[in-house]
Formats: sequence, C-alpha cells, structure tokens
Amino acid sequence: AKKAVLGPLVGAVDQGTSSTRFLVFNSKTAELLSHHQVEIKQEFPREGWVEQDPKEILHSVYECVEKTCEKLGQLNIDISNIKAIGVSNQRETTVVWDKLTGEPLYNAVVWLDLRTQSTVESLSKKIPGNNNFVKSKTGLPISTYFSAVKLRWILDNVRKVQKAVEENRALFGTIDSWLIWSLTGGVNGGVHCTDVTNASRTMLFNIHSLEWDKELCEFFGIPMEILPNVRSSSEIYGLMKISHSPKAGALEGVPISGCLGDQSAALVGQMCFQDGQAKNTYGTGCFLLCNTGRKCVFSEHGLLTTVAYKLGRDKPVFYALEGSVAIAGAVTRWLKDNLGIIKTSEEIEKLAKEVGTSYGCYFVPAFSGLYAPYWDPSARGIICGLTQFTNKCHIAFAALEAVCFQTREILDAMNRDCGIPLSHLQVDGGMTCNKILMQLQADILYIPVVKPSMPETTALGAAMAAGAAEGVGVWSLEPEDLSAVTMERFEPQINAEESEIRYSTWKKAVMKSMGWVT
Ligand code: ADP
Repeated sequence: AKKAVLGPLVGAVDQGTSSTRFLVFNSKTAELLSHHQVEIKQEFPREGWVEQDPKEILHSVYECVEKTCEKLGQLNIDISNIKAIGVSNQRETTVVWDKLTGEPLYNAVVWLDLRTQSTVESLSKKIPGNNNFVKSKTGLPISTYFSAVKLRWILDNVRKVQKAVEENRALFGTIDSWLIWSLTGGVNGGVHCTDVTNASRTMLFNIHSLEWDKELCEFFGIPMEILPNVRSSSEIYGLMKISHSPKAGALEGVPISGCLGDQSAALVGQMCFQDGQAKNTYGTGCFLLCNTGRKCVFSEHGLLTTVAYKLGRDKPVFYALEGSVAIAGAVTRWLKDNLGIIKTSEEIEKLAKEVGTSYGCYFVPAFSGLYAPYWDPSARGIICGLTQFTNKCHIAFAALEAVCFQTREILDAMNRDCGIPLSHLQVDGGMTCNKILMQLQADILYIPVVKPSMPETTALGAAMAAGAAEGVGVWSLEPEDLSAVTMERFEPQINAEESEIRYSTWKKAVMKSMGWVT
C-alpha cells in the first residue's frame, strides 16, 4: 500500500499518575494521528503512602512508543516523519537513581504520598510566620505535596540512597528527568535535566531567578550536586538513544525538545497564552491554572504561584496561579478498587444517572488531607447526610458532585485573587468524558463549561513545545493555527439559588472533615 503523505509529525509522552500514553500529532493541523495507553500500578505499602515503580513507568513508555509506531505503520504513516518528541509528566513525584547502573534506588514517592507529614510539621516550626522565605521564593506552602520533603525523607530513611550520595552516584529527578535521562541513553550519556515548570514544584527552585536556590537546599538539607540541570520548556535536551528496545528504537536519534509538567502542558495545549486565561484538568487530582502573564502573583486565598512555561531558552517566563485538588478521578478509582460498586470508571456515570441526585448525601474525599484552598493535612474523607434511603447510586452522584464543589472552591479563590471572574471554564482530562460531571460542573459554577473535542490537551501542549523548539521548528505557536479547534459546551441548567444552597451544604461537610487526625 502507498504511504500517506503528511507534514512533519511530533510525538508526546504523557506520563500521568494513573497511566502512560504516547501520542503522535500532525504538526500542521494539530490532528491526533495515533496513540497508545498503558495503566500504571500504584502501591500503597502503608496507610497514606503512595509509591510507583520507576522501571515500570519507563517500560510503559517503551511499550506505548512501540505500540503507537505499530499503529502508525498500519495506517501507512512513515514514522521517520516524527521530527521531535515532547515529555509531559505527573509533577512532584520523586525518584532517586544510580547513574552508574541506571537502577532506581527506591520506589518513586508519588505526589499524593503523606508519609512526610511529621517532616512538614517540624520544618514549618523552623519558619517564623512573618518571614516565610520558602513561600516567597517558591510560591508554595510547605506541604507533603512537593518534592523537597519527599527527597528529605528518602535521604533520611533509605540506606542505599545515603551510600550513593556519599559515593557521588545518586541522581534526583521528577518523572520528566528520570524519563529524559533514560531515553537519551541512561548510563550511556543520558542527559540529566528538568524544565522550569517541573523545577518549580520541587520547593528547591527560586521562581524569580529561575535557579536552584542555595538557601532552600540548605533548609531542606538537599545536596545540590544530585539536582538536574534546569532548562526551558522548549529546546533540544538530547536525542533518543534507546536501541535496546527494538521497536521504540525506531525513534533513535529523534530530538527530545519539549518538557512541561502535566498542568503546564494542558495550559499550553488549551492555548491559554493570555493573561487571565485559565483551564481546569480533571485527572487523578484536579488542577485549575490561570495564566498571570509575566507577573508572579501571590494568592491571598490558598492558591499556589507556579511557573506556567518558558517556551525557549531566550523566551520570557510566564507564571500561573494554581488551585490544586488532590482527589478528583481518584475518587472514581476508589469506588472501583476499594468499594467495588463499579467495575469500570465509566460505570460511575450510569449509577449517577439512575438517581440524578445525591439525595442529601455529601462526600468529601479528603483521602490525602485537603489541598487548596484549605491546605489541611489532617483532614480525612467523610460521607455524610446518609439515610435509610441512600444507596450506591447516591454515593456515586455525591462523588461526582464533590469534584465539582472542589472546583467551585478554587474558582472562587481564583476570582477573588484575580478580581475579574472567569466567564466560562475550559476543561480537559480523563474525567471530562463523563457528561453528568460536566453538566453538574456547569450547574455548580453557574458558568458554561467548555471542552475541546480533542481531549488530549496535555499531550498536545508537550508536542507543541517540542515542535516549536529552536532547531526543530515544525510547529508554529501563532494563534491562527487554533481556529479549527471544535468545542463542546455545557450550560448551567439549575437556578442559581439551588446551586448556592448545595454549595453551602458542601462547605458544612468540608468543615466536618477537617482536623480529623490529631
Ligand atoms: P492522570 O493524568 O492523573 O493519570 P487522567 O487524565 O488519565 O489522569 O484521568 C484518569 C482519572 O479519571 C482516573 O482517576 C479515573 O478514575 C478517572 N476517570 C476516567 N474516566 C472516568 C469517568 N468516565 N468518570 C469518572 N471518572 C473517570
């Protein structure tokens, strides 16, 4: 068969908390040509601990690359048209590996992990309230969420890591660094780097000077020599060198030239390049980011300040305000894996639809404490308002409603910080295929919810960064490229008063979940 003629293609690795994907886009039309997805295991070795196997993550990337290349072959698309690869990743998740053997020295400690709660408490005591240099340098509150405390815990508790640090063999990285180092050759010359967006989630990075911060590294007791080099989000970091993987090896020599933490990637993929543009991504957690342009805005209402992107070595840095919710899609997974009331994620919609109401039941899924706007690590999940009448369908409905209420809380905080309320909400992520969720979200926010018909915006953002990099130049980031994007809209259908009553009852439930662990 004849091979289809196409413009240059760009691949993107999207390594999330629940799964890994590899996707290939046409750089001229942003059309998704093919992709493959593999679910990732999460281990819960103790209550509050969440780990993943870095090797499994790496192999899932190889598998997705192989399978996607096979599928492209079946479509008669020549994979030699792939001119660049971008990486987008779950943020904060912490890996330490041995640069001589290429082996991880401990499991990846996932962003949701709570083991560092006591470390956080003792570190917080060391900081005078009115002189919070950590917050002013990093934009982040001290929390179990960010990498520095996870790395501190690993250095304190894992003998193999201590020894490797002493012998100058240890490398630290978030998932992007681990993948880029491995994909560019690993022990054979792998490039140890990260981008500014991922670095900004470690709590060791000064978001003003865009460098690792000596004072922060001293405060957290982190040896600076194990940190990756910090680069922009769009430049050639290195070339693919994976000849040991026969099919993925087909991409040997292709530059890796884009790197963005998943939430930044989604912001780029949703084309939120203007000050005041925002998107909300519904994955394992839920993350609302609002572009604040070249200004670093500090929140008065529990939001984080973070690096949005820097699309080129000589390009300016853009910042964002972020509202982070720890548990969104994870509540679906919990209903499936822990309660067994659904067999697949999609089934939650069927249950919720059967009743169309939570019947007064409220579910606060504070499994990992509460993030924005409360930042209460001692909160725990509750289901309340139960009666004899409540059944699993109401609980499923309440779980979806919880995701929407949590978004309402961060949107309210965002509106207060920014002064200009959002007129609509741009959304993406794995949960947005759930139409009941989308309608509920419009009802609870009382503004339209708008979803692009191509849902893989995270991967698209990484591909755009990779394709636009200097020396690659196959993707133009000019806005006129975007007119073809079609959208699905959900308009509010209940009245504002009803929406307010539900929201205020939700807040009552949140109060009950807080301060649970003493
Ligand atoms: P991540 O990027 O964090 O890996 P994804 O964007 O891939 O997450 O979304 C996966 C999450 O969404 C999972 O937690 C899953 O339980 C949830 N999910 C997927 N489909 C649905 C659905 N139809 N309804 C509700 N939740 C869903």
